[in-house]
Amino acid sequence: MANNAEYTESDIRTALNSGELTAFYQPKYDTITGQMKSAEALVRWVKPDGTVISPFFFVPVAEESDLIMDIDWYVCELSCKTLVKQNFMPQFPISVNFSRRHIQEANFAEKLSALVDKYELPHPLIMIEITESAMIGNESSLLPWITSIRDADFKVAIDDFGSGLSSLQFVKDIPVDILKIDKSLLSHNCEDEKERIVLESIFTFAHRLHMKTVAEGVETKEQLGFLRSCDCNRIQGYLFAKPMPEEEYLKLCMEHKVMEEATDVLQAQSSAGTMNLLIDAIFRRYPLVIFTNLTRNSFYMMAYENFTTTSCPSTGVFDELIVHGASSMHPDDRDIFASTFNRERLIEEYKNGTQTLRLVTRQLGDDGVYRRVETVDYFVKSNYSDDVLAITLCENLADAPIEEIESQIRCVEGISAQQAAEIMKIFEKYV
Ligand code: C2E
Ligand code: MG
Ligand code: MG
Repeated sequence: MANNAEYTESDIRTALNSGELTAFYQPKYDTITGQMKSAEALVRWVKPDGTVISPFFFVPVAEESDLIMDIDWYVCELSCKTLVKQNFMPQFPISVNFSRRHIQEANFAEKLSALVDKYELPHPLIMIEITESAMIGNESSLLPWITSIRDADFKVAIDDFGSGLSSLQFVKDIPVDILKIDKSLLSHNCEDEKERIVLESIFTFAHRLHMKTVAEGVETKEQLGFLRSCDCNRIQGYLFAKPMPEEEYLKLCMEHKVMEEATDVLQAQSSAGTMNLLIDAIFRRYPLVIFTNLTRNSFYMMAYENFTTTSCPSTGVFDELIVHGASSMHPDDRDIFASTFNRERLIEEYKNGTQTLRLVTRQLGDDGVYRRVETVDYFVKSNYSDDVLAITLCENLADAPIEEIESQIRCVEGISAQQAAEIMKIFEKYV
């Protein structure tokens, strides 16, 4: 990083004290599945007019004094705060960059533990990145420093590996968990024979020493293809996502986790303690949830922004809802939709012992495109009367027009009868 002295230490200190420095987050993904797994916090200076200044213009200046240490701790604390905002949703570990000066900082591991403990976060949710170049010249302090951090249950990564002069020989004696391969090693798009040989040997070396690997600066499909063949564990780069403000990052975490985590929770047996999690999982998993009292012909609907159509009423007469729903279906699907979800028929089904009814139809979205929507009804007896109740979960089978997903039709696992009954205990009062 060039030392660009456009800003003075005092400018940067003022920015830090006035809250103009903030953390952006760049996700890291599993190389094979493409699932988001963790993120890196990267400092940004956001001026009052909204201009975002890259660390390239102020970190080198800050690194000339202990100011960088205050910045790093500040970014670490922001990362903890971001994780706390995810307390009721799945959390991804965040790695924080610490400058070379911290290697000499007294009680670094204790300070880090105290900070993370203050936010009541498990230590493995924060990871440390230290650049390869920072290690050079600090060899004697390095080993005890890294050991103390790892003993406190934090993972340590060597950042920018391959950018400096350190050798595999040097790294082999450093007990780190993760090796982050510098983007300069991918500069020939992984198409150059020598570049491939160097990368292959680094991955083999790292894995044989039981280190996990991250490739940073991945911008092209060619690089991704090669990195997959090398068993690289994680990918970070513009191909997947750029560093982004916290708000955007939190949204991404939610979306990315919906399928994975919600399915896990739905498969768990619910008990009083997991009830909130279960309800949360259902609302994140299904864009449309309807609670119905079939006997009384009333419903209460909770729709989310990513459902195909936004024109449904949120409460009203169930029979009218079905007429409304059928009209939004593909003409060929209207009859089957209306007859399957006919109220008398549903009550009859319940009396005959049916627990769930499932139908896939094509529904016209607000954008004029038909999408496959799966509708599943779960029948539940009222807790207070003989009324027959139902929970309906609707899902877009893919966020793509029908032609593109014809081959992907699947049936979701859904919820168990017991879970449906427990949820209805809470929502029955609305119908
Ligand atoms: P780094 O820790 O190696 O972070 C990776 C840099 O690569 C980030 O630059 C990121 O935006 C950039 N990057 C990510 N994907 C791609 C890609 O696909 N292509 C390209 N060309 N670049 C990509 P950024 O955010 O400008 O940060 C630059 C460096 O500044 C960081 O490199 C790190 O050394 C330093 N830095 C950032 N935040 C902090 C901090 O809080 N403390 C300290 N001490 N240093 C920091
Ligand atoms: Mg880094
Ligand atoms: Mg790096």
